[in-house]
Amino acid sequence: MYIAIVNWDKCTGCRDCIGSCPVDCFVMEDGKSLPHLASHCIDCGSCLEVCPEDAIAISIGWGGRGGVFR
Ligand code: SF4
Ligand code: SF4
Repeated sequence: MYIAIVNWDKCTGCRDCIGSCPVDCFVMEDGKSLPHLASHCIDCGSCLEVCPEDAIAISIGWGGRGGVFR
C-alpha cells in the first residue's frame, strides 16, 4: 500500500498536484493540498515530479492514515 503525505509547512497551494494525480488523491483545504484519498495512491510519481516545493512524500507499507504533516 502507498500513502500520500503533504507537508503543509512547505505547500504553497499552487494546485499542481491536484491535476497531476490519476486517482484524484488531492483536494484543496485552507489554501493547502490535502490528500483526502491518500491511501488510493498507486505510486505513479506524478505529484512528486510536479510539486515545486518538494512538499509531497509517498510512504510505502506504513499502514497509517497518511494525510498531512505540519
Ligand atoms: S504518486 Fe501518483 S497516485 Fe500517488 S498521490 Fe502522487 S500523483 Fe497520486
Ligand atoms: S504541488 Fe506541492 S506546493 Fe503545489 S499544492 Fe501540491 S503539495 Fe502544495
